[in-house]
Amino acid sequence: MEMPVPDAAIISGKDRIVARLVAALPPGTVISDPAETLAYECDGLAAYSCAPLAVILPRTTAEVSAALKICHEMSVPVVPRGAGTSLAGGATPTADCVILGIARMTEVLEVDLDSRIIRVETGRTNLAVTGAVEEHGFFYAPDPSSQLACAIAGNIAMNSGGAHCLKYGVTTNNLLGVTMVMMDGTVTEIGGAYLDAGGLDLLALICGSEGQLGVVTEATLRILPKPEGARPVLIGYDSNEVAGACVSDIIKAGVLPVAIEFMDRPCIRATEAFANAGYPDCEALLIVEVEGSPAEIDEQFAIILEIARRHDPVELRQSASPEESARIWLGRKSAFGAMGQMGDYMCLDGTIPVSQLPFVLRRIGELSDEFGLKVGNVFHAGDGNMHPLILYDANAPGQLELCEAMGAEILKLCVEVGGCLTGEHGVGIEKRDLMTYQYAPEDLEIQMAVKDVFDPGWLLNPAKVFPLGASAARRVAAE
Ligand SMILES: Cc1cc2nc3c(=O)[nH]c(=O)nc-3n(C[C@H](O)[C@H](O)[C@H](O)COP(=O)(O)OP(=O)(O)OC[C@H]3O[C@@H](n4cnc5c(N)ncnc54)[C@H](O)[C@@H]3O)c2cc1C
Repeated sequence: MEMPVPDAAIISGKDRIVARLVAALPPGTVISDPAETLAYECDGLAAYSCAPLAVILPRTTAEVSAALKICHEMSVPVVPRGAGTSLAGGATPTADCVILGIARMTEVLEVDLDSRIIRVETGRTNLAVTGAVEEHGFFYAPDPSSQLACAIAGNIAMNSGGAHCLKYGVTTNNLLGVTMVMMDGTVTEIGGAYLDAGGLDLLALICGSEGQLGVVTEATLRILPKPEGARPVLIGYDSNEVAGACVSDIIKAGVLPVAIEFMDRPCIRATEAFANAGYPDCEALLIVEVEGSPAEIDEQFAIILEIARRHDPVELRQSASPEESARIWLGRKSAFGAMGQMGDYMCLDGTIPVSQLPFVLRRIGELSDEFGLKVGNVFHAGDGNMHPLILYDANAPGQLELCEAMGAEILKLCVEVGGCLTGEHGVGIEKRDLMTYQYAPEDLEIQMAVKDVFDPGWLLNPAKVFPLGASAARRVAAE
């Protein structure tokens, strides 16, 4: 992965930069000992790492503002960081940057059950947002599989989704407002505890902006009453294409399950060996979950089961109890860990129109043969968000590059069939140089012009999102 040459003048000025930050911030806020910054050298895309100059861990928006003001004055690049679980390398440092991590900002600032909102500091983990309201019968809907660890800040930056976003939408559909600190230290409020605001819809711009426009320190989120009940059904098929066609037909029928998850044979076998969830040894598994009152669940199940049977399933297992539901979900929830036991893997994230699932799955199988690398498919099939997991050996010379080349072909395929490069993990460094397949030069130019407005010095989260070639002139001009 190509990265820009770090600025030698900034690196040699490390002591001066650290001294100014230390003087302006409370004791213990700035870490610069390489032994202590080690944990910040990479994120979930662990194939790439780099030691940052220093790490700043503020406790308040005012401290974030003070830190950014100094970095702005000294032209030091800043990489915002939540929990560091990005799979796209969104929080990967450069050697001339400081990491600004908001993990210490975890407070709940306001809960208004009547208005169904919660306001939190963005270092709070996704799961802990639900944790703050569940005793009152509410929950926060977006549910990335990493929800135990990932922070709301990262969710907003990546517009994260999860298994249950088919019905409830992704982060952008559940975010009402943010407090954001601009690169020069200015604190700004965008949106609020209401559905829409006057003026330009800047909130939609901030959600998914991958730390390019500002550092988000507080968020107002929508919370929802917990549904009366939920029940999954497990459906097994002897062909990926048939399973894909079943998903397509369920969506076409107009029922709205809360989740439709897909696993193929390599994933099923890996999870059975790992979690022993009792899955059948078939080519493809679907988990379809519906929510509501018992009558609503029965009504939706009737349609889904009729469609499933039309495609000749080898297994059709409805859950009749919370224990059976947990068992049906057990394998899916263990899938990433189980694949990890088989070797190194790269987790892709592309989105396609649901109708293209059968074709794309077949083509991924062909690419797997062509490149000689095994692929396991586990993904949110209901909204076409694919997560092919390419297995490789990180210790074998050339395998990472081969794996990346195959991943690029799969992501280009997603674009070719009318989808896009990312569903929920973001672009980061992983898909940065593929952006030219998705966007014409004029389209990229508009996106970069937006960054010019928010971050004229191009200091925030360098080398991410925009192809290095397309952004070169701007980065040089900003030096
Ligand atoms: C096992 C596993 C499963 C996963 N499953 C899912 C899934 O189901 N769905 C999904 O969407 N993702 C998933 N992810 C990816 C990842 O968890 C999400 O992208 C998550 O939102 C990242 O949050 P984070 O706090 O770890 O952010 P980080 O990794 O720390 O950062 C992510 C991005 O956010 C930016 N950022 C961080 N803090 C701020 C801030 N305060 N202001 C502005 N920008 C900021 C960073 O610069 C970076 O670009 C998974 C990851 C793992 C490891």
